[in-house]
Amino acid sequence: MSSILIKIDGKRIEANKGETLVDVAAKNGIYIPTLCHMRDKPCLGTCRVCSVKVNGKIVTSCTLPVYDNMDVQVNEPEVADMRKALVEFLFVEGNHNCPSCEKSGRCELQSIGYELNMTVSRFPYRFPKRKRDYASDAILLERDRCIFCQRCVKFIRDKATNKKIFSISGRGSKARIEIDKALANKMPEEQVEYAADICPVGCIIDKKRGYDKPIGQRRFEIETLKEQILGTKED
Ligand code: SF4
Ligand code: SF4
Repeated sequence: MSSILIKIDGKRIEANKGETLVDVAAKNGIYIPTLCHMRDKPCLGTCRVCSVKVNGKIVTSCTLPVYDNMDVQVNEPEVADMRKALVEFLFVEGNHNCPSCEKSGRCELQSIGYELNMTVSRFPYRFPKRKRDYASDAILLERDRCIFCQRCVKFIRDKATNKKIFSISGRGSKARIEIDKALANKMPEEQVEYAADICPVGCIIDKKRGYDKPIGQRRFEIETLKEQILGTKED
């Protein structure tokens, strides 16, 4: 891969042509929050929380391969506010009662809400009614918390047939996450755990793991999402 030079928030950075911007930033200690992107996985481009300004235009950094002389602004006021608005919007589109949620303390949406100093959303709450699904033996779907990132849809497949286990039905306000009960009941325990872990919110709940960690020992109480993505622990 050929080497190129880009600038992120005024810092000159050497990168390999073809790498995506969000990964180049993380490798160089610059944090861009995301809710759908996972390092080393194909880009999904669904949440748009990783939006930044590149040469004056707002773009999603998980979908953008770096190119020579790109000038990136991650925390410029307009784009930083837009990112916060996107996160606020995700909160009003579902029902998020963090204190009673099994995922509290290990939820990426909640963690990013804290990082962006979000207290309340500027948008009206929609209070959707999407029926909870207890159908599979090991998984409970708390549909009102789904942010439609598609991680489960793309990355969780039946081991024998490679068929998708999760899917999204409907569109717009009628969209909801679905689970194939027969395939879900064949999921090995570690795959159930993985599905619950990669869900960035508390929608896919492993029935065997509810409030399994005491307050103070939960994932984002030990290390923030930013520290986990950058691989650095701040004091
Ligand atoms: S899914 Fe996350 S943001 Fe939603 S209620 Fe649970 S902890 Fe809060
Ligand atoms: S269930 Fe979780 S992983 Fe699947 S689309 Fe919804 S938020 Fe994303």
